[in-house]
Amino acid sequence: AKEHRPRRVALVTGVAAGIGQGYALRLARDGHRVAIADLGSADETEKLVREDGGEVFSVRCDVSDAESVARCAEAVTDRFGGVDILVHNAGIYPMAPFADTDWTPWRRIMDVNLDSVFHLTKAFLPAMTRGSWGRIVVMASTTFHAGSAGMVAYTASKGAVIGFVRSLAAEVGEQGVTVNAIAPGLVRTPGTLSGPQLELGAFDAIVANQAIKRTGLPEDLMGVVSFLATDDAAFMTGQTLVVDGGFVRA
Ligand code: NAD
Repeated sequence: AKEHRPRRVALVTGVAAGIGQGYALRLARDGHRVAIADLGSADETEKLVREDGGEVFSVRCDVSDAESVARCAEAVTDRFGGVDILVHNAGIYPMAPFADTDWTPWRRIMDVNLDSVFHLTKAFLPAMTRGSWGRIVVMASTTFHAGSAGMVAYTASKGAVIGFVRSLAAEVGEQGVTVNAIAPGLVRTPGTLSGPQLELGAFDAIVANQAIKRTGLPEDLMGVVSFLATDDAAFMTGQTLVVDGGFVRA
């Protein structure tokens, strides 16, 4: 039988490389029109999606800034008429012991990882509930389940995201909108490869504790976002999907 998959509009944040780039590519391959938003240049992702035959619209956006998010929402709505699938992936994970974490870096982590969830949901949820269909997917992390030294602020921000999806799901379930989080373990991306993770031996240490003995890749997460965006996923909401090779059992 022929598969009929509705063509929708997806917005993915934090797409210049890494996991977000994978999400944008996959959602475009699924036939969705894809808006991509990043603080920096997303030219590479835009080019990859186009070469793959996808329809893509790129906007510069600082997800931690309400005005920037509002401008992004306006530009994407002008171009595509609205957003059905919001995949908020942009995030930062600087490592530092709590004793060395001052208020400014703490606030920055909360601004980018958590307050962004507020700004983006405020911007895109009303049209989803009006249209009685929507998907919100936000990135959490298994640091929340495992606890992780050097990542107190980060873990707090991702734990808040998990709380956010649980309670927002309860408010919008009757309006056809699902709200879920994805919690990866350590994934090989430009961010983790350029951070202290390599030097700390985090890749080997985490792999040793996974059921599946290899480091996660963006490809391991792409199918999960693809599924959450479908009508098949309509009965799954308020959840955190752990995708980490069996590192934690949530
Ligand atoms: P990355 O650092 O490789 O890429 C993040 C992207 O987000 C970059 O393109 C960056 O420009 C963009 N970005 C950062 N701040 C932004 C802002 N204020 N506004 C708009 N864009 C911004 O990241 P990644 O490793 O691919 O991780 C993506 C997401 O997955 C993050 O939310 C991260 O916390 C989460 N995560 C990653 C891992 C991992 O091991 N890589 C594990 C668990 C969770």
